[in-house]
Amino acid sequence: MTPTPYDAIILGAGGAGLMCAAVAGQRGRKVLLIDHADQPGKKILISGGGRCNFTNIHTAPDRYLSTNRHFAKSALSRYTAQDFIALVNGYNIAWHEKTLGQLFCDGSAKQIVAMLMDECPDDRVTLSLGQSVSDIRHSDGTYQVDYGSEAATAPALVIATGGPSIPKMGATSFAYDIARQFGLKVVEPRPALVPLTLGGEETLFRSLSGVSAPIVASCGKTAFREAALFTHKGLSGPAILQISSYWRHGDPVGVDFLPDLKPDWLTKLKREAPRLALSRAVNAHLPARLSETLLERIALSGDLGNLADRKLEEASRRLSNWRFMPNGTEGYAKAEVTAGGISTADLSSKNMEARQMPGLYAIGEAVDVTGWLGGYNFQWAWASGHAAGEAI
Ligand SMILES: Cc1cc2nc3c(=O)[nH]c(=O)nc-3n(C[C@H](O)[C@H](O)[C@H](O)COP(=O)(O)OP(=O)(O)OC[C@H]3O[C@@H](n4cnc5c(N)ncnc54)[C@H](O)[C@@H]3O)c2cc1C
Repeated sequence: MTPTPYDAIILGAGGAGLMCAAVAGQRGRKVLLIDHADQPGKKILISGGGRCNFTNIHTAPDRYLSTNRHFAKSALSRYTAQDFIALVNGYNIAWHEKTLGQLFCDGSAKQIVAMLMDECPDDRVTLSLGQSVSDIRHSDGTYQVDYGSEAATAPALVIATGGPSIPKMGATSFAYDIARQFGLKVVEPRPALVPLTLGGEETLFRSLSGVSAPIVASCGKTAFREAALFTHKGLSGPAILQISSYWRHGDPVGVDFLPDLKPDWLTKLKREAPRLALSRAVNAHLPARLSETLLERIALSGDLGNLADRKLEEASRRLSNWRFMPNGTEGYAKAEVTAGGISTADLSSKNMEARQMPGLYAIGEAVDVTGWLGGYNFQWAWASGHAAGEAI
């Protein structure tokens, strides 16, 4: 079989691959976009509860985790949240800011996929769905990809097959296999934006399943003020998902259940209302089931006036800096993204091309760049896809 020649072959028709194909196609490049799924942009379709949190207006490099914290700067500055908003506006897709700069479609995530597909010129971009890649070779500056019963060649090959989070949606570690095949290093991948699990004595907290509260979660020097949710396995909710990306086995996670109260609030309240029960004082700020469980663990009860200042100060300290010792995460099955991935040390931050392997590019979640929750990961997919699309 004679392989069909293209200017570029992009593996993976997710957010990053679609953006890359659109930009390259509009530059007149003949592009083949291959995905083993039966439709493009499957993660876009399920994202944001079906409304796709497509970007964040506060996008900045410090909201990304990477071994090289400077790596994302270049691509993010050359294709910004405002650039993507302009594209969305050009298609009259209505959107709104939900919270913390997070932009969602008013209608459906399907609009984002349709827009990206529409951006791919028909006569330039060939989409091949439901095809597995069986072999990739490189010789004399040309990449050959065998897929399904076909083969294609091109001087440029883009790895855009994402990370292994949510395998039941077709996510794989294929990106890392290709990277390693061509000598690129892979920073050990791990589930991120993922619920944490509690074991041992802390399984008691599982009885709070369904209870949520606005808190500050911290790990090391990083902290997020958002909601936390107790689950039947441990902890979830936006604050926990955010902190999970920074968490490593053995680290404690700190939770401030009363972030708006000063350390001396209980002793002050004791002077004002000595007959007030401690449980009622805490109940005023937390869901009843949660405050009961926490006070049970602190083993303190009675009217404020009957409790020593020292004990009240200690209770206040515990409530503001509760230490959980998660025993793991819910893993790739529940992780919104994969942290780690193809090492940025082997890629150009300008155009995402491999330094030692001309014509090989890696973009999107496959790369060791992971955003916070809230539209940051799609903005990285768009920006890195755009950077490579301008280069291939
Ligand atoms: C439930 C959920 C909700 C999310 N919500 C948001 C959100 O609202 N906002 C946000 O910013 N981020 C969100 N994310 C994260 C976001 O979806 C990803 O960061 C983003 O999709 C990464 O884009 P990508 O193109 O790099 O990879 P992907 O979107 O994962 O695309 C990779 C593509 O490669 C294909 N592929 C994989 N392996 C192979 C193979 N072996 N052969 C051929 N093709 C292959 C896949 O089928 C897929 O189409 C969410 C993630 C999940 C799981």
